[in-house]
Formats: sequence, C-alpha cells, structure tokens
Amino acid sequence: MLDLKALLTDERGHLALLSEERINPALCKALKVIGYNKQYVRGKGAYLFDEAGNRYIDCLSGFGTFACGRNHPAIRESLKQAMDLDLPNLVAMGVASLSGLLARELIQLAPGQLDMVFFTNSGTEGVETSIKYARAATGKSRIIHCKRSFHGLSLGSLSVNGNDEFKEGFGPMLEPVTAVPFNDLAALERELARGDVAGFIVEPIQGKGVFVPSDGYLPEAAALCRKHKAIFIADEVQTGLGRTGKMFACEHWGVEPDILIVAKALSGGYMPVGAVLSKRWIHEKVFSRLDRCFVHSSTFTENDLAMAAGLATLTVLKEETLVENSAAMGNRLAEKLRAVGGQYEMFSEVRGRGLMLGIEFKQPTSLTLKMGWNLLHSLDASLFCQAMLIPLLTEHRVLAQVAGHHLDVIKLLPSLVINEDDVDYLVGAFDQVMAACHRFPGPVWEVGKRLAGAQLRG
Ligand code: PMP
Repeated sequence: MLDLKALLTDERGHLALLSEERINPALCKALKVIGYNKQYVRGKGAYLFDEAGNRYIDCLSGFGTFACGRNHPAIRESLKQAMDLDLPNLVAMGVASLSGLLARELIQLAPGQLDMVFFTNSGTEGVETSIKYARAATGKSRIIHCKRSFHGLSLGSLSVNGNDEFKEGFGPMLEPVTAVPFNDLAALERELARGDVAGFIVEPIQGKGVFVPSDGYLPEAAALCRKHKAIFIADEVQTGLGRTGKMFACEHWGVEPDILIVAKALSGGYMPVGAVLSKRWIHEKVFSRLDRCFVHSSTFTENDLAMAAGLATLTVLKEETLVENSAAMGNRLAEKLRAVGGQYEMFSEVRGRGLMLGIEFKQPTSLTLKMGWNLLHSLDASLFCQAMLIPLLTEHRVLAQVAGHHLDVIKLLPSLVINEDDVDYLVGAFDQVMAACHRFPGPVWEVGKRLAGAQLRG
C-alpha cells in the first residue's frame, strides 16, 4: 500500500525542485521573485501553516475554493462515509447515487426558476457548457461577454475572457464573440439588437479588479437578453455559495439568470466539482431527442465523491451560517479598512461584497511619493501592489494577491469562516503596510525596486 505520510516525510525536501522541474518552472521562478515560494505543510480553516508552525491568514483561499475553510472535518467525514459505502460510482448508464440529491439542493437554493443541473469537473467546463447550451437553445451563435471578464482558460472560456494577456499565443479564438464594457447597458443593447446573440455571460461581481455593477445593471441586462431572445448566463464560479454575503451574488440585485454556473466552493476544497443550473426549456433544446441524451457529458460528471463533497459543503454553509458570517465579516473588514485607509494619501477605496473585496490605491500628489509611484508604474502596472503584498506575507503572514493585470488593486478572498479577530488582525497588518509604503524612500519601495530589477533581468 502507498504510505502517503511516509512518502511526504521522505520527499518534503524535494517537492519545490520537482515542481520547478516538472510542473511549471516559470511559475516557480515568479513565486521566488515575489517571495511567495513558501512551502506550507498544513491547512486548517482560514489558515495555512509552514514547517516552523507559523500561521498565515489565507486571503486567496485557493482562488475562492475554501469557503468552508481548509480540511473541514465534517466534509472529510462525509467523504469518508461515501468511500466506506462502496457506492456503485460512475456507472454512466444507470441511476447515479448522489447527483439527484445535490441537484435538488442546488435548485432549491438558486435564485429564480432554474430546473436542471449538469455537473462538471471545473468552472471552465461549466462555462463551456453554458456556451453550448446558449447556442443550442437559441439557434444563434454569437456570445457577448464583458471587458475584464474571467471565465476560465479552456478555449471556449478563453474566447470570452476580457483580459488579452491570457489569449496570446492561443488563437484563433471561438467566434463570433464580442466584448462590451461591464456596467454599460447601451453597449450591451447595441450588440443584442443585431439579433444574432446566443448568450450574454457575466460575473455578477467581476473577479479581476473586483468591480461591482451599479444597481440596475444586472436586472436590466437580464431583461434586455429576454427581449432579444438571448440567454442570460450568470457565472457565479467565484461569487457563488456565500462568497459575497448572499448564497448567490445575483440575489443582491434580484436577478434571475437563465443559466447559473457554480464551482470552486462547491468542492468543499476536496473534490473538483462544478454545476450548471439551467431552465428546463434550455435543457430540452440541448437534449432534444433520445439519441441526443449523451450529446453533452463527461466521464466524471456526477461522480460520487464530488457529489458528496457538494452535499457536505452545502450542509456546512447552512449549519455554520457561513453566508451570514461572510456578510458580517465582509462588512466589518471593508468598514475598518476604509477607516484606516482614509489616513493614507495613496488609498483610494475598498469595494466588493461580503468576503470578496478589492482595495484600490491611487497616484499620490506629494512629490516624493509620486516619484516612486511613477517609477514603479513605468516598469510594471501591477508592481506597486505586489510590493505591498510581499511585506504583508513575510512580516504579517497574510497571503493575498493583486486583483489582476495593470491594476492597483489588492484582492481579499479569505475563507468564509474568518472571525472578528482575523478581521482586526488583517486591518492592523494593512495599516502597517500602508504606513510603510507612504515612506519614500522606504521598505516597500525597496521591495518594488528589487522586483523591478528581477523583472528586467527576465
Ligand atoms: N469563472 C470565474 C468567474 C472564475 O473566477 C473562474 C476561476 N477563477 C472560472 C470561471 C474558471 O474556473 P476553473 O479554474 O475551475 O476552471
């Protein structure tokens, strides 16, 4: 039998090198440059731990996967049960044990009238599914998406990605596809009016940059889609399942999508899984005849461990009132960050909902700070925030990320289990890092210079 524990103990010292040699050398080098090449040995709840036992507050949470926290014991227990039951997993041509149960739960929770569920292995697969569904349902082909959108990196999803950096070298993309500015109803209507649009895909709150729409945008966009017989697709892969302080972000604005995609958090952090919820009529257009019953599928759809993880995750979200905690802790964090940030010249705003927050910085007016700001921005538009994130990690043990390319926005996406002490700690850490970056010359600018040098060297 494989003794995983022994294997890990023996190999711990080789893991970084193996990763660099065999998985992604460029990523490993980039992590080294920014001091993020730490080896964590344990995860628990909202925290990561390194070998020395230091605790880090994880504000990345696996890009939003660990809504329930890492290694949640109740989810683990349900998964153990699923294994111990010797279920007839993946029969493919037979009745699956758990998928109907999870589908029923998701439909109950989802906004509006959604009827049918297709289970995927990832967020991007959910997006691919939604594009196919929109085309099959409408008989039209064009997909509209928003600028700055992120919907995953497989080719269909990449084609509706609003950040060109991801597309370089992978063209040609799926066509026809058109990008419109987020929050711009007139632009959306102009495109819809051309009459060839199968669907409009949108993140209710954009993950890259954490952009929140104005109140009327999403309901109006959904109404315009209906008027022009296009499918309104809400990509809630990141925002879904409590992240924004509601079970689904659509609920903030009373939006009822035709298709809703979830993934990430549904996994409980254990099993890759996603789900595409759709209206029955759309589903019937896809699976329109008996001989089309497999026309959209995948080997691992409905797999029992993924379904068990999903069911257990929904139970934990409910039992631990994590959606409410996300709203409460998100408000506390945003308010306190605003209060602290207000003292600093380069602080611009905190935006987002629940525990999906972006802290934006702006060009200073005082001469010396402006010099530093301009210097870093002339080298790379994301360098300023990265220079703040490094001391945040190394000195304050807070793991977070820049919210996207060419942005002065730090994104916070902690687990929904964080508590008031965590929030207050985060605010204190930001206070200190913001204070440091307002000293020029000072430690944050030194880090920036070092980063810039590393970048120039290649
Ligand atoms: N849609 C959104 C809104 C996302 O944030 C992501 C992942 N960050 C995806 C789709 C793709 O999900 P996955 O990485 O599971 O393919």
